Amino acid sequence: MSVPQGRRAVLAAMLALAGAGLAAGSAPFPQDPWPDGTVLRGEHYVVVAGRRVPAGLLEDLAVRAERARRRVAAMWGPVRPVILFPETDAEAEALAGTGATGGLAAMATADRVIVLPSGYARLSETGRDVVITHELTHVATGATRGGRVPMWLSEGFADHVGYAASGLAVRTVAAELAAEVRAGVLPDGLPGPADFAPGSVRLAQAYEEAWLACRYIAGRYGERTLVRLYGSDVGTVLGLTAAEFTAGWRDYLREELG
Ligand SMILES: [Zn+2]
Repeated sequence: MSVPQGRRAVLAAMLALAGAGLAAGSAPFPQDPWPDGTVLRGEHYVVVAGRRVPAGLLEDLAVRAERARRRVAAMWGPVRPVILFPETDAEAEALAGTGATGGLAAMATADRVIVLPSGYARLSETGRDVVITHELTHVATGATRGGRVPMWLSEGFADHVGYAASGLAVRTVAAELAAEVRAGVLPDGLPGPADFAPGSVRLAQAYEEAWLACRYIAGRYGERTLVRLYGSDVGTVLGLTAAEFTAGWRDYLREELG
């Protein structure tokens, strides 16, 4: 079954963001990392690959990049993705300036997406679209905008865009959280930065909680309202106290997953 595998890889891709974001500030990318590489240039995207990356894989990625770009444009706004497809994970890590990224499928920096070849290869078809769309959403929104956007909102929104066209059921995407809710355990509050840290024991649930917070806002208040939350807060945009919002979100978790 491909979904759980996709889910793991999607999560893995999300894990990389914090480190990659830091790296983007300290280690700018060379404009052309591979002088002998392959460049596929669409009207709105550029995909660059190492010389030994198979042409079919690169063309497939270009199709996904364009599809992801359209989704991000429809839900957020224009983005002109630059996606790098290195030959090896080590090369990807060097480009991003991160440490070992075992199991990850892609990373977002301030202005581009870097594919991690071995993690990406393990993804299902749907998983690849979700990952590329998720990472591209980070590029489009400027991720957490220097910490001014709460992590539940940046990760939840990237997942909201990523999963929007996936056709996956809520209980499938949020399997770990659904198991807890069915057992009668609801989270007390929205996940914070520590919950998203690598190695966090409820890492999967943190992403699922964030995703469902954004899905709740979009469903109840509208997609435009969710977008307006970036750069603002639930008090201003939704007219709710934090406690009221949390209570509504917990009710939503019970309805969707219970
Ligand atoms: Zn992310």
